[in-house]
Amino acid sequence: RQEQYARLRDVAAVTKDGVEIALHMNAGLAIDVPHLHDTGAASIGLFRTELQFMLAPRFPRMDEQYRFYRGVFDAVPNRPVTFRTLDIGSDKILPYMAKIDEENPALGWRAIRIGLDRPGLLRMQLRAMLKAGAGRELRIMFPMIANVSEFEAAKAIALRELEHLRRHNYEEPKTLKLGAMVEVPSLLWELDLIAQRADFLSVGSNDLVQYMYAADRDNTRVSKRYDNLSPPVLRALKRIAAAGRRAETPVTLCGEMGGRPLEALGLLAVGYRSLSMSPAAIGPVKSMILGLDLAEMQDFVAQLLDANDGAPSIREKLRDFALTRG
Ligand code: PEP
Ligand code: MG
Repeated sequence: RQEQYARLRDVAAVTKDGVEIALHMNAGLAIDVPHLHDTGAASIGLFRTELQFMLAPRFPRMDEQYRFYRGVFDAVPNRPVTFRTLDIGSDKILPYMAKIDEENPALGWRAIRIGLDRPGLLRMQLRAMLKAGAGRELRIMFPMIANVSEFEAAKAIALRELEHLRRHNYEEPKTLKLGAMVEVPSLLWELDLIAQRADFLSVGSNDLVQYMYAADRDNTRVSKRYDNLSPPVLRALKRIAAAGRRAETPVTLCGEMGGRPLEALGLLAVGYRSLSMSPAAIGPVKSMILGLDLAEMQDFVAQLLDANDGAPSIREKLRDFALTRG
């Protein structure tokens, strides 16, 4: 199997009916980055920057952050990198930061909320990313965006940092794209606007599903009750992909479901053409794509969603249909 996947490295992920799917890689540590080469991933589609912060003995200084990000770019010449700004809080704790007492950490002070309330930290990180992106294709995305105004506020901070770099004659990124993660359900009712304002969207399905079902993703007592392949989740995901197409804004999904072949199949069927996943998932997902007749699968899933029969999941039906088609 491993060898079979290795042979797929340079094979484009194209369905049997000719639809090309972009497969990107998630990373968070320096040692993850070289996997881009052995998997043949198109880019780093999600770099979780909080891991560097979680492993450090104290808050990394700007120059330490810069060197780390530059090292990521240097390890993947000619490829874009999508850095996510710090996503701490909830389950991701920095040992050197004062612990905050919260009844519901997952609903609490985390990610971009901290970034906007303590803009000094966000500014420092953005400066490090912008400097590290000199001459490169830099993509930055903001986690846990709940409405368009939070995205605008984060974007304004990034553009101010870019201006600062220009004033001081630093080399700028060759291209800079600023994106929003779609992982807080409130954004589902501002989709057209966020798709117009952001350069790209990235769906954080791990959190989106947790918040849609009000079920802690790390608590298997409740998280296993709900399926990523449920009609409500698939309908929501379909709307996000459609809003991206209407605004001509690229949409990627970077949650774990994109790396599970059957769930990835469901995602393609509701309109996704770009997925970012852990390196080990790229071979299996690519292999699924190469055997897929997407048009037929799209019709099948659309029928299941239209049937509106109250089934909690389409997983079994999707699996059976996929198996009969090879
Ligand atoms: C997600 O929520 O789906 C996601 C990609 O981010 P994380 O798992 O780091 O919260
Ligand atoms: Mg998330």
